[in-house]
Amino acid sequence: MTEMIKSWLECIRCGEKYDFSGIRYTCDCGGTLDLKRDLSQVDGQKLKQIWEDRWGAKHGIYSSGVWRYKELIFDCEDKFVITRQEGNTRLYDAGKAGEYAGLKNFMLKHEGENPTGSFKDRGMTCGATAAKFYGAGTVACASTGNTSASMASYAAIADMKSVIFIPEGKIAYGKLAQALAFGGKTLQIEGNFDDAMELVQDVCRELNIYLLNSINPFRIEGQKAIGFEVLQQLDWQVPDWFIIPGGNLGNNSALTKGLQELHQLGIIDKIPRIAVIQAGGSAPLSKMWKEGTEYAAVKDPDTIATAIKIGNPVSWEKSLRGIKWTNGIVEDVTEQEIMDAKAWVDAVGIGAEPASCCSVAGAKKLVDAGIIKSDETVVGILTGNILKDPDAVVGYHKDELGHMGIKGTFANKPQVIKATVDAVKAAIN
Ligand SMILES: *Cc1c(COP(=O)(O)O)cnc(C)c1O
Repeated sequence: MTEMIKSWLECIRCGEKYDFSGIRYTCDCGGTLDLKRDLSQVDGQKLKQIWEDRWGAKHGIYSSGVWRYKELIFDCEDKFVITRQEGNTRLYDAGKAGEYAGLKNFMLKHEGENPTGSFKDRGMTCGATAAKFYGAGTVACASTGNTSASMASYAAIADMKSVIFIPEGKIAYGKLAQALAFGGKTLQIEGNFDDAMELVQDVCRELNIYLLNSINPFRIEGQKAIGFEVLQQLDWQVPDWFIIPGGNLGNNSALTKGLQELHQLGIIDKIPRIAVIQAGGSAPLSKMWKEGTEYAAVKDPDTIATAIKIGNPVSWEKSLRGIKWTNGIVEDVTEQEIMDAKAWVDAVGIGAEPASCCSVAGAKKLVDAGIIKSDETVVGILTGNILKDPDAVVGYHKDELGHMGIKGTFANKPQVIKATVDAVKAAIN
C-alpha cells in the first residue's frame, strides 16, 4: 500500500479519540483503548494479494509473520520497526490429541515456536516498535513470565533498558531464566500478578517509563497476526472455531479484533466462533459468562498454568465484546483436565506449556458437551513452548503433583534399572 491508512486510538467505553502524538494507555475515563483505522477506502482483495506476495520473504521486515500484515498492525515508518522475524509458526494436525478431544479436524497453531517461545513476541515486536516511535529509553511490564522474557529480548535488540515486575511465588523456571539472561532488571514484588500490574502502571506514569503490558494497545495490534497467519496458512478458508486460553485476556481480544477487520474488508465472509478457556482457579470471565453476573475479580487466583494465573484481567471488556461478536463462548477447565490434555499434546510430539493446553482441554470439554461438533474444523492456539515449564512436565510424569490435586493419568514414568541386557529387555517389553 502506498497510502497510509488513517488510524487513531479510541476509548472502548466512551468513544473519546486520541491521535498518536502523546503516550497513552487508557482513556481519561479509565477505559482501555483500541487502535482504530478507517478501512472504508481500502481494497481488501488488493491488500490480501500484497500479503500473499510477501509470503516467504527471506529478509527485511516482511519476513516477519507480524510485519507481513503491516497495514493492519502499525503503519509507522519502517525505521522504527524492532523485529526478530517473529511469527511464521507452524500449524499442526493435532493427530491423537485431536482424537482425545473428540475432533476429526483439529489443528494446533504453535505460538510457542516464536523467538522467545511464546505468542508474546507478536505483541512485543509491535509494542517495542511503538516504544521506539515514542523515543522511549526504558520499558517495563508486570509478568507471569512470558511477557518479561519477550520484553527483555526485544529491549536488548533495540538497545533499551527493561524493568520487570514479577509476582512472588511460582514463576516457571524457563521464563525467569530468559528474563535474567536477556538483561531485564527483574524485581520480584510482594503480592500476586494483579498487584504487580497495578504497581507497574503507577511506576510507568511517575518515572516516565514505557509500559509494555497488553493494556498497551500496540501489543494487541501485533497479536492480531496470529489469526491473520492461520487464515493465510488455510488459504483464507475460515475454520468453524478458534480455541484460545485466557489470562489477562489480551490475546483473544486481539484475535477477534483482527477477524473483525478482515471481515470489514471482505477478506473473509464467515465469522469463526471463539472459545476462550480459563483455568478454573482463575476464571473471572468464565464465572461472569456462565452465571450472568457482573464482572468481579478473583481474589487469590491459583493454577499450575502460571501464565494465566490472573484474577483481574485488564482486557476483560475488550475480550467480552469480541467473543459476543463471534457468537463465541467462555469455558473453564480443571487442573487435571489441563495436565491430561497437555500429556496428549506432548505425547504426539508437539508439546506446549500448561496454559497452552487449555485449548485442547477446552476442546474436549466443549465437544463432550455437544457445543462443538466432532466434524467441525477447529484451530487451537498453543501459546507457549513446552520447555518454559519443565517442572510441570516432570512432576506429572513422575506422578508427583498430588499436593496440587493432579494425578499422572497418562504418566510416562522414568525407570531405574540394572545395567544388563536382560533388565533392558524386561523394561522395554
Ligand atoms: C500470556 C499467556 C497466556 C494468556 O494470554 P492473555 O492475553 O493474557 O489472555 C496464555 N498462555 C501463555 C503461554 C501465555 O504466555
